[in-house]
Amino acid sequence: MRILITGGAGYIGSNLVDRLMGDDHEVHVVDNLSIGKIHNIQHHLENNRFRFINDSILNESLMERVINEVDLIYHLAAVVGVKYVVEDPLRGIITNVRGTEVVLELAYKYWKPVLIASSSEIYGKSTNVPLAEDDDRILGSTTVGRWSYSDAKAIDEYFAFAYSKRGLPVTVVRYFNSYGPRLDPRGYGSVIAKFIGQALTGEPLSVYDDGLQTRCFTYIDDTVKGTILAASVKEARGQVFNIGNDRETTILELAQKVLELTGSPSEIKHVPSKEAYGPAFEETRRRVPDVSRAGRVLGFKAQTPLDVGLRRTIAWFREMGG
Ligand code: UDP
Repeated sequence: MRILITGGAGYIGSNLVDRLMGDDHEVHVVDNLSIGKIHNIQHHLENNRFRFINDSILNESLMERVINEVDLIYHLAAVVGVKYVVEDPLRGIITNVRGTEVVLELAYKYWKPVLIASSSEIYGKSTNVPLAEDDDRILGSTTVGRWSYSDAKAIDEYFAFAYSKRGLPVTVVRYFNSYGPRLDPRGYGSVIAKFIGQALTGEPLSVYDDGLQTRCFTYIDDTVKGTILAASVKEARGQVFNIGNDRETTILELAQKVLELTGSPSEIKHVPSKEAYGPAFEETRRRVPDVSRAGRVLGFKAQTPLDVGLRRTIAWFREMGG
């Protein structure tokens, strides 16, 4: 198949590229390298089944040409991570809303199946765990920047469902705290990357608040597997799926595990989250996916235990020298 991956130089995107190139597909990547890195796809550049276009998904004439040429689209390009979104909300909103609008408009015009990457941020601060796809969303005020990401992704989902209603094959996935090789070592968008970086340089691990907030960390191989299944299984069309591990971990436990697996002498330092993100920040205390729909429709279950995934991620960070 000829496949377009927007955001293919990013963390999830480039791991998806590896897997699809390994399965002998022809892969086209559009990425403006604003968050993604050329290093992530460098090893494919000489391959004639691979094409990289360094441009924005907001460039409609480019997107029109590329979408016309492919059989399937994975739309992953976005401004991701709470930190980026809080720092520059306008860029986040425009990229995440307008970008998806462009992709879907053109997919509709040329009638190409699309997978839209969404996020567990959709659920906001709902503590109604496990979070099922049709559950209510609970968000804070529009004056709190964090929620603009959740709402931008929600608009993307509304667009996806609206095009699906017109018959276009569209599937949506909501990622839950994916981690693994190629995470941004500065820790943008991932506490795991941040803690590993801190542990390897001997800095204190910055656990926000009491550290009893939880996340369900999902190893990248599982994230990629769920994504490919969602785009391939016909019954998935028109639906949205949580793609995540349902094993819940507190941030404090995570910090302890990173220290244990790296053998680092670093300490754990509790930091008020408002100090890190600003006074208007609101934390999500618990985030656990209901994985039953993904299991039933896609036959997907995340398999990689946290220890195994963390060991592989730490090994990659060591290889990268940071
Ligand atoms: N976190 C932390 N220390 C950090 C960065 C994050 O304790 O240096 C916590 C954060 O408060 C949240 C969790 O780790 O509870 C996950 O944060 P991340 O930014 O990885 O993703 P989120 O799920 O919040 O989008």
